Amino acid sequence: MSYKSEHERSIQDPDSFWGEQARLIHWEKPFNEVLNYSNPPFAKWFEGGLTNLCYNAVDRHLKDRADQAALIAVSTETNQEKAYTFKELYEEVNRMAAIYQANGVKKGDRVLIYMPMIAEASFAMLACARIGAIHSVVFGGFASHSLASRIDDAKPKMIVTAEAGSRAGKPVPYKPLLDEGIALASFKPEKVLIVNRGLTEFTMVAGRDVDYATERQKHLNDIVPVEWVDATHISYILYTSGTTGKPKGVQRDTGGYAVALAASMKHIFCGNPGETMFCTSDIGWVVGHSYIIYAPLINGMATILYEGTPLRPDAGIWWELVEKYKVSVMFSAPTAVRVLKKQDPAFLTKYDLSSLRALFLAGEPLDEPTATWIHDAIKKPIVDNYWQTETGWPMLAIQRGVEVMPHKFGSPGVPSFGYNMKLLDDATSEELGPDKKGVIAIEGPLPPGCMQTVWGDDKRFVSTYWETIPGKTIYSTFDWGIKDKDGYFFILGRTDDVINVAGHRLGTREIEESISSHPNVSEVAVVGIEDKLKGQAAIAFVIPRNSDSIANLEAECMKTVDSQLGPIARPGRVYVVNALPKTRSGKIVRRALQAVAEGRDPGDISTMEDQTVLAQIKDIIDSTAKA
Ligand code: AMP
Repeated sequence: MSYKSEHERSIQDPDSFWGEQARLIHWEKPFNEVLNYSNPPFAKWFEGGLTNLCYNAVDRHLKDRADQAALIAVSTETNQEKAYTFKELYEEVNRMAAIYQANGVKKGDRVLIYMPMIAEASFAMLACARIGAIHSVVFGGFASHSLASRIDDAKPKMIVTAEAGSRAGKPVPYKPLLDEGIALASFKPEKVLIVNRGLTEFTMVAGRDVDYATERQKHLNDIVPVEWVDATHISYILYTSGTTGKPKGVQRDTGGYAVALAASMKHIFCGNPGETMFCTSDIGWVVGHSYIIYAPLINGMATILYEGTPLRPDAGIWWELVEKYKVSVMFSAPTAVRVLKKQDPAFLTKYDLSSLRALFLAGEPLDEPTATWIHDAIKKPIVDNYWQTETGWPMLAIQRGVEVMPHKFGSPGVPSFGYNMKLLDDATSEELGPDKKGVIAIEGPLPPGCMQTVWGDDKRFVSTYWETIPGKTIYSTFDWGIKDKDGYFFILGRTDDVINVAGHRLGTREIEESISSHPNVSEVAVVGIEDKLKGQAAIAFVIPRNSDSIANLEAECMKTVDSQLGPIARPGRVYVVNALPKTRSGKIVRRALQAVAEGRDPGDISTMEDQTVLAQIKDIIDSTAKA
């Protein structure tokens, strides 16, 4: 089988290609047709088929793998380690599903999950899938305002949380942030289920808050039958940043997602049932949804759920886990590798890594020094792969399971099956030839597993993603790229105002909105600049209302972002300036700000209203650097 002919078939004859892949999962009732694309760009995959994500991830393996490890929860924060077999995972998920039902959660209801990386978080996700409820996981690093906007959009019947997470050995309270988030939101969830880890004190709200341990005890022996849902039934919503301040709820189906993940394990990740996968991401991100929870379990693999940093108790911890649990497939992000790179490589080499076949890295550009360093240290193939929250699984990768393909430094590889990827001129929308820079776009239909729509807003789905390239209805990734003569893509950065900090996607507009809520901020612009460790860092420029009281303005702006959005969105620097560079029509020229902040030439500034502003800003940056 050659990659090229299979890829062509996946585009030309999706019925045949995806019809075959669909056999990788269990169908309670067969689908009527593979693809219904009668209403583009809305693709319906496997319509009429009945299936269930939880059944495919858990129940299906009970016959052959009941006593095999399924979920290995490791916390170097609380020094706990517990492996759940498929049978034990099944029991825990049933208990959680019973708790949901007892508290009124039904098929189609939303459950917001705001949790650290503990086993209960995965029970909570799988239990939603079991009963056909829709989960919406919110990353634990987000704070009250981020929670409130997601609560108002998803309108969850129930929220599942823990009273605290833990970072580098210190408890990070979750419950007060959640209480504040609920207070800020207009929509009020009926119930909040709390896993009490005993890390911090907290208060329960009578009538609303429910203790997990007490509830679990009540439902110890409950078995909740699987709810067979249509393949197009919504499995989850995951919020992601875009060009506006309001995060978008990426909505995913059930059947298409399960098939796509199973196919990706076969063609890209090459993990086998019975082996162990270790993905170091967080369940709050799409990589965590797909490759900590669903894909490995659907594939009958054990999955490691890791709470902790890559450096505690020392920089060997991840590799110690690889040896201990015989990990065959590992998945991380370039930032994590850059963190390890500062440590002695002996930490990596002292463990037996013979089980490991490849290390996959995604989420941000993989620079050559980082790729070379980790390759030399672990002597395993390093596989870059490129995708987005919207796609749910890699768009570009070396298709290792299909044929032996050469790696090219700086390129995540070639389009995965089902992705009809084009490189388009942003002005003329014409398809570009080799080595020309353009916008990476996908011709519809999007393959199985990709977003169905924006939750509750079909119009926004169409206008945001499908109508930005003039004259064409085509999905824009909002990434610049080039394609070489062999069909390998190279990613050159975003075309919009999204920045990528340590593999986490942040909208500069969200950060701007947060900073502008500070009473002494009259105007603000946020840009992403290059950062050696995190890839990019957010930098803010603020114009104060009252320039007499700016002594603590930088720290106060950072605090505002911390408390509203969470520390992950905190800018690296806040510069207090007198004016921002604007065009004559009043638009802030962020690219010029970014250039100046990175010490580059801002290029043509003739369209700017006041051409002296950038020079003033440069002086402020230079004098702060010297100070
Ligand atoms: P997210 O939706 O948070 O996963 O962010 C997706 C964005 O991260 C993409 O649109 C790219 O800008 C960037 N990205 C993800 N993977 C890669 C990669 N392998 N190389 C370069 N950029 C990447």
